[in-house]
Amino acid sequence: MQLTNRSKVVTKPEMTFVEKLYLPAIFSGLGITIKHLFKKKATLKYPEQTRQFAPVYRGMHVLKRDEQGRENCTACGLCAVSCPAEAITMDAAERKKGEEGLYREEKYAARYEINMLRCIYCGLCEEACPKDAIYLTDRIVPSEYSRGEFVFGKDVLVEKVDQRIDVSKRKKTYTI
Ligand code: SF4
Ligand code: SF4
Repeated sequence: MQLTNRSKVVTKPEMTFVEKLYLPAIFSGLGITIKHLFKKKATLKYPEQTRQFAPVYRGMHVLKRDEQGRENCTACGLCAVSCPAEAITMDAAERKKGEEGLYREEKYAARYEINMLRCIYCGLCEEACPKDAIYLTDRIVPSEYSRGEFVFGKDVLVEKVDQRIDVSKRKKTYTI
């Protein structure tokens, strides 16, 4: 091959006798491994151990209840309208006066679904909600085996009466 003026021939330096034994390289590698054994591990034994996320982390949604245990959501649809991914669908229905201690008729979501495969965790639904009904929590969305299982309904989204999800430290990202 013809070398141009700008070409440079690089010759590999000859290995010394010690280098040819490969022992220095092996001990150097072992040293790095041993050093990492005593360092704080970057991995966790999930799900037994979970990571503390930042207050602005946006994970799985929760539909909140009020102090009386009633669902906050009144099925106004603002979250669905503001969702850029069109991930939220719902059917509105009406609770009669007297039901669950209501002093007047009130709308509620008979069906409320979020397609987690569409969701981009932007948080716009929680910003749009006038009833503080929907929040994105630091819960990790569970793995599922089929696409249909990622459509979460009220059975998954609405917090349990006896297992409230604390969202007091949740920092919303946008100021509208
Ligand atoms: S976080 Fe964003 S994408 Fe996901 S449901 Fe809410 S508005 Fe839609
Ligand atoms: S979650 Fe909030 S914004 Fe969405 S339908 Fe319910 S009350 Fe309206």
